[in-house]
Amino acid sequence: MPKPPAKPAKRRLSPAEKTRIETLFARFAAETPHPRTELDFKNPYTLVVAVALSAQATDKSVNKATEKLFAVADTPAEMLALGEEGLIPYIASIGLYRTKAKNVIAAARILMEQYGGQVPLNREALQSLPGVGRKTASVVLNELDVEPAIAVDTHVFRVAHRLKLASGKTPDQVEQELMAVTPKIFQTRAHHWLILHGRYVCVARKPKCRECPVADLCPSRDLFG
Ligand code: SF4
Repeated sequence: MPKPPAKPAKRRLSPAEKTRIETLFARFAAETPHPRTELDFKNPYTLVVAVALSAQATDKSVNKATEKLFAVADTPAEMLALGEEGLIPYIASIGLYRTKAKNVIAAARILMEQYGGQVPLNREALQSLPGVGRKTASVVLNELDVEPAIAVDTHVFRVAHRLKLASGKTPDQVEQELMAVTPKIFQTRAHHWLILHGRYVCVARKPKCRECPVADLCPSRDLFG
């Protein structure tokens, strides 16, 4: 059995730090009140497939592939009928497509056999599907408003560190820290804001600190000139 991730020490926020973090998320909320995933989907099932396909691939490349795929298969039954060989041509432009095709078809089979063709909207069942890890389950549950979750990808990890919202060394640790410091009213949207911020402003190599809407609240601003 894999060892569970070490829990980061509980962070006690000073009043000033609490205010900084609240202001920061309020700023994101004012800028983008209704952030959504940039992945295209038609229903819970296609959301699961799109998120699973997006591992180590851009949302843009996934959307390009799924536009045609979901036109012919947007339910587990249709995906199963398409089969692995039928699915591959649609997703061959996406990284790791062979493994992903295998997982998508295996997951469709489980959904048909065990869940009547519906997507189970709970974490344990979702994570038992092939190709669906904690991050994918978090994105799905959050996007469908089932439970607040802050899935940590490379953008969220980087932004959380730069904004000193978290210091953990693994995505699991950062996720726990983010959930602990993010005010409840912002938890459902925090994942999207942090991703969008990392994707378009606080980019990896040359963050756009001069255009950053939270620069005055960022302890890393001076590091980037
Ligand atoms: S000020 Fe710079 S480093 Fe800080 S969050 Fe904004 S873009 Fe990122």
